[in-house]
Amino acid sequence: MTTQLPSHDWPQLQPGWVWLCGAGPGDPGLLTLHALNALRQADVVIYDALVQEAILDWAPQAEHIYAGKRGGKPSAKQRDISLRLVDLARAGKRVLRLKGGDPFVFGRGGEEAQTLIQHGVPVRIIPGISAGIGGLAYAGIPVTHRDVNQSVTFVTGHDQSGNTPSSLNWRAIAQGSQVIVIYMGMKHIARIASELIAGGRSPSEPVGVVTTATTDQQHVLETTLGTIEADIAQAGLEPPAIICVGQAVTMRQVLDWKGQMMGEPVRNLDPLGRGRPAESA
Ligand code: SAH
Repeated sequence: MTTQLPSHDWPQLQPGWVWLCGAGPGDPGLLTLHALNALRQADVVIYDALVQEAILDWAPQAEHIYAGKRGGKPSAKQRDISLRLVDLARAGKRVLRLKGGDPFVFGRGGEEAQTLIQHGVPVRIIPGISAGIGGLAYAGIPVTHRDVNQSVTFVTGHDQSGNTPSSLNWRAIAQGSQVIVIYMGMKHIARIASELIAGGRSPSEPVGVVTTATTDQQHVLETTLGTIEADIAQAGLEPPAIICVGQAVTMRQVLDWKGQMMGEPVRNLDPLGRGRPAESA
């Protein structure tokens, strides 16, 4: 298949610029056309751990630099990455900074862009499909559905110190948000689940855990708040995982389109028991 761009007045990645770009959750087809345009022009691609190899193959002319973090002090490493981007831009490179999902969603893209701008480096931001939306869609979980929720909350399960974020008011989130989407939640899932239950959510509330969403290795666990820790351990699931709490997860019974592509039957045409066609008034 060709990856030619359709004709359009595409922006040029100029020497000395950094384009901070989302690569989507995994499936290379979820890249934006701006991302593809950037891959075509870059001299250097600095990419994170969650960016798929296949996407880098679309920039064969560029140097590929891995900037994933492996332990250590996250903030110090982050600063190193940002300063490396500054150096590359100042050396006159066309720099593509490629991050998983969307660069401004739990991706430190805001910090990197701020550092670049503070150093006088011109920046363009290219949004991407975030795992908390697109990753769930690949599991047949709609983050909003008229019969389920009028709000959705995106939370991170880690703060800068690696702990459950203490600044989060879990009780308020439990009480105020019908659907809760948790990034980086695996490490502290037991604590998060018990905070949500303490905040009033039922232990039987459905939870979906989607690992390596949108890739060929995507795996979906359907569980509940009360049993999630044991079920994750039993299934042997590893990060990256996006976790969705709420009735949206039951919609998978009808909307698991990937399962249906593989020949699995629809489990329930009306999982919310509305007893009427989905689109009646
Ligand atoms: N900027 C990214 C999020 C980065 S934080 C975005 O917008 O998606 C990293 C976390 O994102 C992971 O710990 C996981 O919770 C989630 N994540 C990213 N890609 C994922 C994938 N393919 N499958 C499941 N979770 C993913």
